[in-house]
Amino acid sequence: MKQELINELRKIAGDEAVFEQEPMSRHTTFRVGGPADLLVKPEGKMIPLLRKVCEEYGVPCQIIGNGSNLLVGDGGIRGVVIAMTPDRGRVTIKGNQIVAGAGMLLPQVASKAAEHGLTGMEFAAGIPGSMGGAMVMNAGAYGGEMKHIVEAVTVVDQRGQQMELSAEEMEFGYRTSCVLREGYLVTEVRMNLEPGNRDEIRNKMQEFNQMRRTKQPLEYPSAGSTFKRPEGYYAGKLIMDAGMRGYSLGGAQVSEKHCGFVINKGGATARDIRQLIQKISEEVEKKFGIPLEPEVKMVGEFE
Ligand code: FAD
Repeated sequence: MKQELINELRKIAGDEAVFEQEPMSRHTTFRVGGPADLLVKPEGKMIPLLRKVCEEYGVPCQIIGNGSNLLVGDGGIRGVVIAMTPDRGRVTIKGNQIVAGAGMLLPQVASKAAEHGLTGMEFAAGIPGSMGGAMVMNAGAYGGEMKHIVEAVTVVDQRGQQMELSAEEMEFGYRTSCVLREGYLVTEVRMNLEPGNRDEIRNKMQEFNQMRRTKQPLEYPSAGSTFKRPEGYYAGKLIMDAGMRGYSLGGAQVSEKHCGFVINKGGATARDIRQLIQKISEEVEKKFGIPLEPEVKMVGEFE
């Protein structure tokens, strides 16, 4: 990467916010992934200019939130990674409305909602993603989905142009929205919740989190559910019925606790995880004729 670009990004974001050859294993919940050429942790107001400069230099820009739905290749990421981090985000609450920076984590925002006696976000209290990642994935659990509470989303396009999209314009669907297709970077999310009882809200969150601890292998690094739910089936059940419970490849394993999760049992490489994902898809397709689509996003160089 040109030193000139590195210098320019340092000038925009500050020396302390720019990291060269940054291991992506530090930024993903799988705890795997090789180095990014350059990783920048910008403040919200710097983002339009950052995107514009990368576009001018023709350097690819990968956006990440909390890395909880990402598998980064062992060869790392060429170009610039823009990391939307909670330490640079904020939440403001006025009446029933919550405005949260894209780097804020869902549990942080859900807990603020509870503090203010606002209901509707309990489902998100245990999802370890950022608000931005939740807009890309239309994150959801226990019958709730982000699309039910989002009013508007502020995004920056690849040329650095900022705009606000309504919930309808976001084209939310099952674990999808228009964000990736359009190459937008989410900077802020406005949500509308309902007044509720503080204790009931907190109890519901605790109940959901307890269910997660009981059913999910939270003691191992993973990216949550590895596959999307095929219509009319559960991915975890199909994988179990295909006889793959506990199946491992290198350090990657089909969780024994919940077959819908591929976990890093210890020392897994991104290659192990990707190969295991492929193997699972092949076995399920062979046994039941049902294609499984990964929910996890794969980025960077794998070979
Ligand atoms: P990342 O993994 O960082 O990125 C995911 C995608 O979003 C990438 O394509 C990235 O480029 C893009 N992206 C991230 N931030 C931005 C931004 N600001 N602007 C534009 N693009 C962006 N998901 C659920 O839906 N429900 C669950 O119940 C659930 N449970 C989980 C449990 C565990 C233990 C784990 C590890 C994960 C779980 N997940 C769940 C998956 C994950 O937390 C969600 O998909 C979450 O929304 C991803 O957010 P993130 O910030 O980590 O995104």
